[in-house]
Amino acid sequence: MLAHELRAQVARKALSPKEVAQAYLERIAKLDPGIGAYLTLNERLLEEAEALDPALPLAGLMVAVKDNIVTKGLRTTAGSRLLQDFIPPYEATAVARLKARGALVLGKTNLDEFGMGSSTEHSAFFPTKNPFDPTRVPGGSSGGSAAAVAADLAPLALGSDTGGSVRQPAAFSGVYGLKPTYGRVSRFGLIAYASSLDQIGPLARSVRDLALLMDAMAGLDSLDATSLDLPPRFQQALEEPLPPLRLGVVREGLSGNTPGVERALEEALRVFEGLGLRVKEVSWPALPLALNAYYILAPAEASSNLARYDGTLYGARVASEDLEEMVGRTRALFGLEVKRRILMGTFVLASGYYEAYYARAQAFRRRLKAEAKALFQEADLLLLPTAPHPAFPLGSRPDPLALYREDLYTVGANLTGLPALSFPAGFEGALPVGLQLLAPWGEDERLLQVAHRFEEATARAHLKTPLGETL
Ligand code: GLN
Repeated sequence: MLAHELRAQVARKALSPKEVAQAYLERIAKLDPGIGAYLTLNERLLEEAEALDPALPLAGLMVAVKDNIVTKGLRTTAGSRLLQDFIPPYEATAVARLKARGALVLGKTNLDEFGMGSSTEHSAFFPTKNPFDPTRVPGGSSGGSAAAVAADLAPLALGSDTGGSVRQPAAFSGVYGLKPTYGRVSRFGLIAYASSLDQIGPLARSVRDLALLMDAMAGLDSLDATSLDLPPRFQQALEEPLPPLRLGVVREGLSGNTPGVERALEEALRVFEGLGLRVKEVSWPALPLALNAYYILAPAEASSNLARYDGTLYGARVASEDLEEMVGRTRALFGLEVKRRILMGTFVLASGYYEAYYARAQAFRRRLKAEAKALFQEADLLLLPTAPHPAFPLGSRPDPLALYREDLYTVGANLTGLPALSFPAGFEGALPVGLQLLAPWGEDERLLQVAHRFEEATARAHLKTPLGETL
């Protein structure tokens, strides 16, 4: 069952929240050893389900939460040995809002350490496998959340997206994933990677399910000064008729897609035309360079954000009589990829290099934004692939630069702050292919509205549940 269907069953008392919880826990016990979506399960889930008021709007819904989003009293590791025993004394706003409406946290999902990666192979604990093919990655960094939803080990999940980490795993795992406009969902309680790019976003197996989560968690939060006062109206938007819309297809400089991705794009264009959208080719000249700017700015912010893990206040400490040695040994607990990012970030911020790298990347970011603004005079929405190919085999990207190139299509939305949605749009062999819609700043609802029409027009043909459903 999709999350909104489950909710309807619970509302009419055909199922109790406890029965839903039990069904998911049993299935996780059976299937998750082969997938590795979860790092920690909520051991109080059954108690919480029993105590729940079934009249609450999200009662009966269970959410898998990426393990870089803090959950009060429930271990939160960020996929790192630095935080492997961290039990947060507070709750992320996104989680608090879902819980206040009756949703429960099923467990915490695997990720690349601190969100750094595109395959979930950089988790300090173990890699997660793709439910469509266990020899392949589920994408990353929110790979645990995407795999959990794809295998129906959770009806809903939260991820975080700094450079594509909700959308690319959603595409690789055949589910929907939204990176909201920067600021629409509070970042309070999201363990910082690159603060000017980070956003929490939902993953689910239908557009309506994304809308349920967004309506519950988006909106102004006094605990996050960058949060926006844009009241969410996602479910309502799904009921409204589509106005005439121009859909811009971005192709320029973006070659190298596999035939399955090209086919999905062509087929989607026909469906969108059938829905009355006017399709046109548009040009976003700076986009192919966005990756270069991203891999300067994100590590720069990360090097600053991760400086706090020095053994004195937060997380793990490797004891030593000597302070410098204590800090050094503690920071040695970071994984290889995180160390690489800290080194890159520290380098581009160093006084002799700041102007050459960081300042230029910031200037480029302004240009990318200006171009996007101009583009949205010509088109109301943009369409491009989420990734140039479907899920790749585990262990097949040993070169860090090859992994960075995975993010070519996704980092643009983060650098500009624009909302972007990945939706299932076909298959290449047995593997799902995702496409991505981008909308102007603050128009997240429009993305869901159009993707919902696509979902209906294709009769959910692109949604598969390779391992069947829990309920
Ligand atoms: N793959 C990108 C990175 O490694 C994006 C990660 C993310 O969005 N958290 O930085």
